[in-house]
Amino acid sequence: MSRMKTREDSPALRPESVRKDFPILARTAPLAYLDNAATTHKPWPVLDAMTEYYCTSNSNVGRGYYRLSMESTACLDQARLVVGSAIGARSPHEVVFTSGTTDAMNLLADTLGRQRVSHGDRIVVTGMEHNSNLLPWRRLCERTGAQLMVVPVNAAGRVELSDFEAAMGPDVRVAAVSHVSNVLGTVNPIRELAVAAHRHGTPLVVDGAQAVPHWPVDVADLGADFYCFSGHKAYGPMGVGVLYGRHELLSTLPPYQVGGGTVKGVTFTAPVDYVPAPERLEAGTPNVAGAVGLAAALTYLQDLGWDAVRRHDEHLVRGLVDAVGDLDRVHVIGDPAGQPSGIVSLVVEGIHPYDVGGHLDRLGIAVRCGVHCASTFLDDLGLVGTVRVSFAVYNTESEVDRLCHALATVRPGDWTRDHPTTRFL
Ligand code: PMP
Repeated sequence: MSRMKTREDSPALRPESVRKDFPILARTAPLAYLDNAATTHKPWPVLDAMTEYYCTSNSNVGRGYYRLSMESTACLDQARLVVGSAIGARSPHEVVFTSGTTDAMNLLADTLGRQRVSHGDRIVVTGMEHNSNLLPWRRLCERTGAQLMVVPVNAAGRVELSDFEAAMGPDVRVAAVSHVSNVLGTVNPIRELAVAAHRHGTPLVVDGAQAVPHWPVDVADLGADFYCFSGHKAYGPMGVGVLYGRHELLSTLPPYQVGGGTVKGVTFTAPVDYVPAPERLEAGTPNVAGAVGLAAALTYLQDLGWDAVRRHDEHLVRGLVDAVGDLDRVHVIGDPAGQPSGIVSLVVEGIHPYDVGGHLDRLGIAVRCGVHCASTFLDDLGLVGTVRVSFAVYNTESEVDRLCHALATVRPGDWTRDHPTTRFL
């Protein structure tokens, strides 16, 4: 199944008209919202789909023998179908709805952990991981006595296949890597990493939180065994995310949280008879409206045309990197323009990132400053933090111009003078 339109049949994305799809932009103008890696705004089709669900179909799923409940169940089934097809899953049964990437990673560390990891085994992560794809594995190591191996990140901000291969071995029970770095926007060679992991019989878990909003992700083509992402970073609602799992592996996972919706039958004493995945891994009432909104968000992105979205990202990222090249004392970290994903991390020489953030905020520009929930990576880069600019489909060239003008006028402030090495975000 090919979801990517060709360059010929995809017109260029026109952010000025895209902006009309996002009601919050009318309220927040003239704020230049450049913190989309933290969360994106929501377009009307997402808001409408969720409102429509609550106005017409709201009821609990899979447990009411009446029409409204069946309709609600059909909404959830349809959302699973749309989401699975949007990411190249072979079947909707490979899609588990979670509350987000963090929840999906914790689910995996718990279930894969119980299934595969014991004392003396190794788990491989990379040096660029977000805490959500580091701490669950670290805790699993602490609980089991397994060892955490950290693959280094190269000077461009990517994982090298050879470094990954060097870390692999028969005792590596899980490898977990980011698709796109939330700090630098750099892209890892997932396809190659998956081949290397599989050579050792190791499942590859991919943190796709920063990839899904920017690429037409195809889990089968990537060879990912598990792929996790959050709805809210891809124009969908907060509180919903996805754990994709290749059927052969997902179907064997033990339950995570247990409770309503996960069992066929229960007694007080006999072994519990659990339903198959994905429902086995979705205890309790699911976030149906969230799933419906997420399906609408991925459909919205497809309708914009992936080629147009990609070219828009490339245009803004390369435009910013070029413009920053003309600014004294402003430096781009890593190589975000090599394969642009929509994220660019900057530092201003001699000025604390929080002072830069405060200055930009006063000029109506929202960016994220600090360590981006990846202090281990910032330590490795030898930085107190960065100023992270992250684009979405509604950002414009003129916002990039505004940002560059603002960067040209930033001066040291209280953070630089009084707390030059302090960081907490
Ligand atoms: N991984 C990456 C790469 C991220 O950027 C984020 C969000 N900052 C997460 C995981 C966690 O996502 P969430 O907070 O939506 O669970």
